[in-house]
Amino acid sequence: MGAPKLLDAISGFWVTFATMFKRPVTEQYPEQPGPVAPRYHGRHQLNRYSDGLEKCIGCELCAWACPADAIYVEGADNTEHERYSPGERYGRVYQINYLRCIGCGLCIEACPTRALTMTNDYEMADDNRADLIYGKDKLLAPIQPGMILPPHPMAPGSTDEDYYRGTIGTPEATR
Ligand code: SF4
Ligand code: SF4
Repeated sequence: MGAPKLLDAISGFWVTFATMFKRPVTEQYPEQPGPVAPRYHGRHQLNRYSDGLEKCIGCELCAWACPADAIYVEGADNTEHERYSPGERYGRVYQINYLRCIGCGLCIEACPTRALTMTNDYEMADDNRADLIYGKDKLLAPIQPGMILPPHPMAPGSTDEDYYRGTIGTPEATR
């Protein structure tokens, strides 16, 4: 080996040698999923009020705002015997097609009731098309302690406006 080649080899090994003392940047995915930015646009969630009623009113504004035509909504009327959300309407069918979604977040900006938000969950890979179209069964927020699974009436003495203003269960709501 001539002198120039020897120098090349030494400089090459120098990179390897120096790298041995650097902090590893390898991520141990999927065993240890890495953190994402707090406002990362992951899987959507359809939120509920504190009593379990759904915030979605089936207005379709999110679907109209979506540049990828990824959202399908069918609204329906609440009745006194079967109420899923405060007010007149609720989202009877709600689907997001994650084969189309580009995670832009325009849908959550368009939602008038903050029914639709995005979580940090990004683990949505699957092996078939059908399972990547999420319906209400996958998108609705889980029932928390103190909530009741709809259908059920609005809180006693409350109006839909109390729900929108966030005053259910307060003295304002029982006026
Ligand atoms: S994040 Fe963007 S592309 Fe995805 S459903 Fe919402 S508006 Fe459509
Ligand atoms: S998620 Fe929001 S914008 Fe979309 S249909 Fe429901 S209330 Fe309307």
